[in-house]
Amino acid sequence: RAKAAGRHCVRFFEMEMDAQARMQHVLEIDLRNALARGELDVHYQVIVDVGTRMPCGVEALVRWQHPVFGPLSPDRFIPIAEDTGMIIAIGEWILRRACTDAMAWPAHIKVAVNLSPVQFRDPGLVPTVRAILATAGLPPSRLEIEITESVLLQKNAVITGMLTELAGLGINIVLDDFGVGYSSLSYLRQFPFSKIKIDRGFVSEMTQRTDCATIVSAVTGLAHALDMQTTAEGVETWEQFRLVQAAGCSQAQGYLFSKPQPADRIDFSRRGNGERSHHG
Ligand code: C2E
Ligand code: MG
Ligand code: MG
Ligand code: MG
Repeated sequence: RAKAAGRHCVRFFEMEMDAQARMQHVLEIDLRNALARGELDVHYQVIVDVGTRMPCGVEALVRWQHPVFGPLSPDRFIPIAEDTGMIIAIGEWILRRACTDAMAWPAHIKVAVNLSPVQFRDPGLVPTVRAILATAGLPPSRLEIEITESVLLQKNAVITGMLTELAGLGINIVLDDFGVGYSSLSYLRQFPFSKIKIDRGFVSEMTQRTDCATIVSAVTGLAHALDMQTTAEGVETWEQFRLVQAAGCSQAQGYLFSKPQPADRIDFSRRGNGERSHHG
């Protein structure tokens, strides 16, 4: 009986695999048309200055409204876009959209755009970014490019060169999701980032574990000593915000202040007050 059950499990597993692979395939085909059909959208989440609790920037986060499956998380479709190379066109579109939208916002508001490691394999990346900024009329100092340490993984001189060129244009280069990978500290030596974003995992555990709070304080001190700002990601509660503030983080981002929302819904004059917005 055990053997039969085992076989059953294996068969079920195969079916699951099959369904998953089919789903991936369907999404891949649909993603090819998503841009042209206007199914992609860019939402923005405010980033607040810890000292004033006023918005100082936003992060652009792509959204896909699938005609059948409804809203799909970027974690579902960005990997497909990366595997197929579609991220080049999609990423360009997101960047153009974010830079254009930012032109309507107050001049002190920066716009952060996530760039995939795959986009750094495109030799046209730097000229494209430069052209998008020029067309939009956005000063490069208002753009932040967020990369994860996976971009730096291969210690590739070409990629470091591209980052240096982008920084040379006046763009801020930000290290995203800091602390989730392996040898994170070594990445701080590889490039002079403007800012590092401390991963939500640390922030969410800060209230339960004092060692997490200690790590965040230490990382913040180190970053500031290296002339880098810090943003605490995923701040959901007032208690977390107070710890982030005590740790010395420059900026905070999270559902406490706002969820990602369409450009026309952002209120840059609203101070984060720790109350959850049910409309955001
Ligand atoms: P990320 O760049 O680290 O973005 C932050 C993610 O945390 C976003 O998820 C955001 O909605 C979520 N978040 C913000 N505050 C909170 C909070 O208080 N609690 C919780 N639980 N989550 C919070 P999202 O939009 O689903 O994006 C997930 C990831 O997908 C991003 O992580 C980024 O790596 C990638 N991504 C999103 N948009 C783009 C894009 O335009 N281009 C590229 N290449 N990647 C993108
Ligand atoms: Mg990010
Ligand atoms: Mg992040
Ligand atoms: Mg992330």
